[in-house]
Amino acid sequence: MAPRRPIVVASKNGATALPAAMEILRRGGTALDAVEAAARIVEADPADTSVGRGGWPNILGTVEVDASIMDGATRRAGSVGAVRGYLHPISIARAVMERLPHVMLVGDGAMRFAREIGAERSRLLTPRTRGLWLDFLRQVRETPRSVLRRRELAPVVMRTVRLERKGTVNFIAIDRSGHMASAVSTSGWGYKYPGRLGDSPVIGAGNYCDERYGGACCTGFGELALRGLTAKTAVDRLAAGMPPEEVARAAIRDVNELDAPRPAAMNIVVLARDGGYASATNRRYTTLEKRERRRFSVMTSDMSEPLLLDRTLVR
Ligand code: ASP
Repeated sequence: MAPRRPIVVASKNGATALPAAMEILRRGGTALDAVEAAARIVEADPADTSVGRGGWPNILGTVEVDASIMDGATRRAGSVGAVRGYLHPISIARAVMERLPHVMLVGDGAMRFAREIGAERSRLLTPRTRGLWLDFLRQVRETPRSVLRRRELAPVVMRTVRLERKGTVNFIAIDRSGHMASAVSTSGWGYKYPGRLGDSPVIGAGNYCDERYGGACCTGFGELALRGLTAKTAVDRLAAGMPPEEVARAAIRDVNELDAPRPAAMNIVVLARDGGYASATNRRYTTLEKRERRRFSVMTSDMSEPLLLDRTLVR
């Protein structure tokens, strides 16, 4: 196969990690290594409140992270969910894919496996995210102690539905050999019910990659992508010959038809096997500053820095 021009497409918060991912691809590294390395950078960044260290805690103040990785060449996949105290869930997910006959581990089992492979431990809650969690508890007239003692957490979690406390990082790459891989990492829904999993660790919902056609990854209200198997549906549409821009729009149109409490934000990035890409969202922003958040990022091997582009708005 003739050498291909490497490319990585990411959610906006992935832009900081794109030069490192591209460096791996320029040197002839694999798409799988590039997306894992990129996700690790965002996971370790305490300034990103939606992924890894510095991520949103659950309603009890514990950060529980989810991640998934998929090899587009073999369609092997690995994922972990509800992992506490480990810095790089993406690497645990990759180890699930490579060292176990399984695809997905959650909770205690995932943490046991993380220990077994010597994964790096870390305190994920930062003073900033702890402070924001305390602010939220104050708003709903709770304290860390009262919420811990509650028999029913559901009424408090219901108060989080309209909060802007989400976020995830997405990466999809094509390497010089034309192989593809995708990675997704998140702390999930801020102040979620303990044990809640969103779309990010579920292969087919928040992440799917099949290099015969392409890859797709989501961020946003994960329950919607779970209900619509949004990432797999997008790749099925690529397989049917739909161009990436239409695939991204169709994905958001599907989500918009689901009955859900608004705002039910959903964003998707799509990368086709020929390097064509697109991204769409259903989030309308009124201020310029917030509009920034509606972007996604892309980097090809001939760029010196990542490009930030507007996602197509689909209402
Ligand atoms: N999709 C993630 C989740 O539901 C959160 C997000 O991307 O905003 O866990």
